[in-house]
Amino acid sequence: TPATQIRNFCIIAHIDHGKSTLADRMLQVTGSVADRDMRAQYLDRMDIERERGITIKSQAVRMPWSADGETFALNMIDTPGHVDFTYEVSRSLAACEGAILLVDAAQGIEAQTLANLYLALENDLHIIPVLNKIDLPAADPEKFAKELADLIGGSPDDVLRVSGKTGVGVEELLDRIVQDIPAPVGDPDAPARAMIFDSVYDSYRGVVTYVRMVDGKLNPRERIQMMSTRAMHDLLEIGVSSPEPIPSNGLGVGEVGYLITGVKDVRQSKVGDTVTTARGAATEALAGYTDPKPMVFSGIYPIDGSDYADLREALDKLKLSDASLQYEPETSVALGFGFRCGFLGLLHLEIITERLSREFGLDLITTAPSVIYEVLTDTGETVIVTNPSEYPDGRVASVSEPMVKTAILLPKDYVGTVMELCQSRRGALLGMEYFSEERVELRYRMPLGEIVFDFFDQLKSKTQGYASLDYEPDGQQEGDLVKVDVLLQGDKVDAFSAIVHREKAYAYGTMMAERLRKLIPRQNFEVPIQAAIGARIIARETIRALRKDVLAKCYGGDISRKRKLLEKQKEGKKRMKMVGRVEVPQEAFIAALSGD
Ligand code: GDP
Ligand code: MG
Repeated sequence: TPATQIRNFCIIAHIDHGKSTLADRMLQVTGSVADRDMRAQYLDRMDIERERGITIKSQAVRMPWSADGETFALNMIDTPGHVDFTYEVSRSLAACEGAILLVDAAQGIEAQTLANLYLALENDLHIIPVLNKIDLPAADPEKFAKELADLIGGSPDDVLRVSGKTGVGVEELLDRIVQDIPAPVGDPDAPARAMIFDSVYDSYRGVVTYVRMVDGKLNPRERIQMMSTRAMHDLLEIGVSSPEPIPSNGLGVGEVGYLITGVKDVRQSKVGDTVTTARGAATEALAGYTDPKPMVFSGIYPIDGSDYADLREALDKLKLSDASLQYEPETSVALGFGFRCGFLGLLHLEIITERLSREFGLDLITTAPSVIYEVLTDTGETVIVTNPSEYPDGRVASVSEPMVKTAILLPKDYVGTVMELCQSRRGALLGMEYFSEERVELRYRMPLGEIVFDFFDQLKSKTQGYASLDYEPDGQQEGDLVKVDVLLQGDKVDAFSAIVHREKAYAYGTMMAERLRKLIPRQNFEVPIQAAIGARIIARETIRALRKDVLAKCYGGDISRKRKLLEKQKEGKKRMKMVGRVEVPQEAFIAALSGD
């Protein structure tokens, strides 16, 4: 297809505003997927995406569309809407000339609408404002068209109104894409340069690399080169997704398609890298992307120690398709052998642990999420701590923690409650803005460590689900932070150590000591449980000694959920961990960590 007949666009929206549903309708209206083959969220291929109704990996698809007697190739790149995956959004945007800014006509602009819009503007994309779900009785297109027009400029009449569900307005939208979004520009005679915007592992085809051609052409069976490493590969297949993969006789300027080279690891086909030909190679790479950095760390342990090798293998497999996942072996007194894993955010953590249990059948325990602390020691050395057990006890001069700028959109009635919540999480108010008569944007600078600890759940429950949140990293800042240890009969239990603000140390220590008192069975002797900052004890509980007439079966607390897992093991084979002289069933540790 000549570049003049190509349009590359993406759909950006807050989660649940209907991207995937609109994408489905576009596939149908353009005849790309026959009605009988249609299923909801056609492009969301992972089971977990379908079940949770969210898009994790972006996908590209090519659709034919006729306008003014000419046939155009529309390349649509679906993007995820959640904060953790902003990185995936930004690399998809770089492959497009335009973006559909999709807003739910019953909800209006939300936090991620704004975050994604700003990303699109940074990439110089042409924006088409669209209100979705106009079939809903609660839809108020007049009001929100004005809100959108105020935000991006222009008149409310320019805002398209569609329903991804019924298909109303979708044809007009496709026409607008052809009309308004600029055709890609590139030099067809220059050496080939293609930008890798996604790289997916497929168990049948190996790594499938999605590219956007910028200059020149790539031909079938050509020898190609990755410009960052100069690694050469033979092209086994080149083609377009439409949406099923269709081999083609090459890709030219502006086209979006896939490459298969037989490599087995997504790291050999790095997102952001430039692909060129082995012969007549380009000399200058396209501007790439920076690698996403993990922000949240957690220990993942198999509940059954003999699953350790399986866990390693499962992580290796997930890493093939998710270069942002990091892990390294670690051991814990309480939990045995496991891995310290790094994630882009909490949702990323949740998705990985869910995939490990669902796709690999592993029973796992995850330790409390931690952020990256930079600890300056009294000898002037900087220690990076992602696991409280690495904290240089007794040598700490100062500690700094990662900060984020958050934007929270909420109905004005909840402003007081949410400000209280943010202040209790050490937030500093940056600004407050009225978006409309009843919707307000609050901006806070907050420690990331306060957000990873159930902030989102609190925000949702305090606003009946009406608030939305977005955040971006904003450097490190020194804080009055301390490490709290938990000791059983004087012995430290590593998995329970936490780095917290000094004012919250007491609450954390008391909570853990109480939990453990309820969970650990009585022994033949008295067992003190203590929480301490360094040598200073800040909380204490005692498990009284077992009286002779009391049966050993006296677990307190509610561990019924975990008990199911234990039924698999035979009585008598119960795994006990020794902490000093104290015998603790592993499920007590697990229940204490899961906090339920
Ligand atoms: P995404 O998170 O932006 O991909 O949103 P989805 O496409 O998964 O849609 C979120 C929810 O909104 C789903 O329950 C859809 O069925 C529903 N939905 C999407 N588009 C429409 C629409 O045009 N009208 C109505 N009534 N519901 C819609
Ligand atoms: Mg979706």
